[in-house]
Amino acid sequence: MEIPENIIDFHVHIQPWEQIKDAPRKTIEAGRSDVEAILHYQRNPKAFSEHLAGLGIARAGLINYVSPKLMGFDSSCNDWIAEYRNVDPQRFFAWGGIHPNFCDDVPAEMVRLLDVLKIDGIKIHPPHQEMSARDKAFYPVYAACEERNVPIMVHTGTSVFPGARSRLGDPLDLDDVAIDFPKLKIVMAHAGRPFWYEQAFFVARRHRNVYVELSGIPPQYLPKYLPRLEFLDDSVLWGTDWPSPGVKDLRSNVQVFCDLSEYSDEFKRRVLVDNAHKFLGSGSV
Ligand SMILES: [Zn+2]
Repeated sequence: MEIPENIIDFHVHIQPWEQIKDAPRKTIEAGRSDVEAILHYQRNPKAFSEHLAGLGIARAGLINYVSPKLMGFDSSCNDWIAEYRNVDPQRFFAWGGIHPNFCDDVPAEMVRLLDVLKIDGIKIHPPHQEMSARDKAFYPVYAACEERNVPIMVHTGTSVFPGARSRLGDPLDLDDVAIDFPKLKIVMAHAGRPFWYEQAFFVARRHRNVYVELSGIPPQYLPKYLPRLEFLDDSVLWGTDWPSPGVKDLRSNVQVFCDLSEYSDEFKRRVLVDNAHKFLGSGSV
């Protein structure tokens, strides 16, 4: 099918590059010939917004999270991304973060993030934060988000970054969170890639408040890895994970997804456009 208009990409990495430690930075930059362009967009929200418009991407969720030990990001990444988003809030929405072990007052920080900075969603990264998503230390974070109808995105699946604890990427951990916070919107980034797809499918099928987001999975393999994806219907969201290793640009993955014959055109349109608009429209984003 033809690429539709108004695509929303939930998972794009726009982060304060100068905070990234050397080892993970080398992992990101290895093998990329467009590092200069990436850096340009990290520093120029207007230029990036225009770039997205040119690619036919109506809105993009900009990923930030706090991981002082592994990645280098501290809580100031929230201020940074709020400012970036504010340049073009029609185009961008901001995922921010918190690490309970590196925060003196979690409820107060949540007020700052959600009520002062107006962060649109909170990203949890268990392998990079070395904490399970079901750790009770995250519960005040979930409570604050649930209360305000702000979504949570959780990295599910492995990570190749130095020091990452991949075991903590098991999507089944979110079964507990979804039970304890039935009104919290939970987005499972990467659908448990590369060997927890069944767990991710189960959790999304079981809980109405849990969504699957497809970033970081080569789209041509989706029908093989997630043959029953269409059953999840309006719980599936689009994302690329640009500029992660293996993701060339934001549009070529869309093209590959549109070319898949295994899923119906109607479903593909919902994933790229309708589900995301519904998701964002019904929340505070
Ligand atoms: Zn990512």
